[in-house]
Amino acid sequence: MTIFILDLDNTLFDTRSIPAELTGRLHSRLRQANAECHAVSSEVLEQAINDIWYAPFSVVCERYSLPRTFLAIWNDWQETVSFDQPLVPYPDVMRSLQILRNQGHLLCLLTSGYRRFQRAKIEALRITQLFDEIHIDAVDDFCLGKAAIISDLLLSRNWNRKDLLIVGDSATNEIDAGLRLGISTIQILRPGVVATNLADRHIHSLLELCHDTAFY
Ligand SMILES: [Mg+2]
Repeated sequence: MTIFILDLDNTLFDTRSIPAELTGRLHSRLRQANAECHAVSSEVLEQAINDIWYAPFSVVCERYSLPRTFLAIWNDWQETVSFDQPLVPYPDVMRSLQILRNQGHLLCLLTSGYRRFQRAKIEALRITQLFDEIHIDAVDDFCLGKAAIISDLLLSRNWNRKDLLIVGDSATNEIDAGLRLGISTIQILRPGVVATNLADRHIHSLLELCHDTAFY
């Protein structure tokens, strides 16, 4: 049995698939605030807005030295946003997670971000029932980091780290956590993801894991 530690954003679904009418509200508020306070150039703001797809907003704020008022705008937005329509996972996701479950593997979802927002996305994706465990590394809460959460799970669940396999898109988040903990990592190269040689292996679809898990 392998214990898969799977990431959510840009691993199980494309964050750019969040409906434009929801994200558009946020982007126009940020552009308006920037026009009023001239915090950064409009080019830098657009770059920051683009990065929101790939990193928690607090990280984006730090990266571009955005003022705290921008974080408040994001907080207002993410606390009120709700998905009326289901979000759609990447086409391989539902089938491959079901196959891995049927093969007897344990599936653990570990995602970083704002607790309420991550929960809303998980619910809208309708994937809860496919996971044995779901954990959120909440940036608006203790924000332990994925490495610390996995360390805790190793102890509390009595898991052996050689049985774990971390799967995700982010070099600086889950792949780095795996490196630090001595756990095998697989980077999934979804569209827009840049390959890192820090990962032990690269895949393009979770279905690739269904055929060869016997090797792990
Ligand atoms: Mg991700």
